[in-house]
Amino acid sequence: MSDSRRKDSAPNRKSAVRQAPRQDFPALMRSFCAYNLFPAISSSGHPRHFALIAAVMATDPFHSFMPLALEQARQAADAGEVPVGAVVVHRGEIIGRGHNLTRTDNDPSSHAEITAIRQACRALKTDRLEDCDLWVTLEPCTMCAGAIAHARIKRLYYGAADPKGGAVDSGVHFFAAATCHHVPEVYAGFEEVESASLLRDFFKNRRI
Ligand SMILES: [Zn+2]
Repeated sequence: MSDSRRKDSAPNRKSAVRQAPRQDFPALMRSFCAYNLFPAISSSGHPRHFALIAAVMATDPFHSFMPLALEQARQAADAGEVPVGAVVVHRGEIIGRGHNLTRTDNDPSSHAEITAIRQACRALKTDRLEDCDLWVTLEPCTMCAGAIAHARIKRLYYGAADPKGGAVDSGVHFFAAATCHHVPEVYAGFEEVESASLLRDFFKNRRI
């Protein structure tokens, strides 16, 4: 690469970071909490409260699928695999599930995200998951970030950050690279304590 091209690519990467659509986690949690307070409000029986619930539900149908990704991570731990789990969601329905199976499959590409994406593509009979969201317990690595971009995943929700192996907000910041042709919306920090403690316990037990 010539010096002039190298100079050009740096500002491009920076602008990609700014353009990547992100929403802060507290805002999402607020909407999630509001959603889960509905039963308490609706028990009041006041007609105005029902109208409020209907209005908010119409504009804010947020639901976290991270507990189901965590369920996959626990299955990985039970199988002696690094506990990372993922699900792909299409219009509110899970169409792909996966957890790490690299040792079981003797396959370094058997990461949770890849397995879930493969299953979702088979379910929809397509290689493009444009209307799908991926929920994964750990920040995706470079390989999985690449697969997410190739699959055109709409939104990525991840749990714990991975400063050593992650490639979204750590390491190569794959989605900000000039060579990345599809950038999903990224939301981080869902069930991050539980996601990280599963990994910590797994590696602690392996050392004993
Ligand atoms: Zn990966």
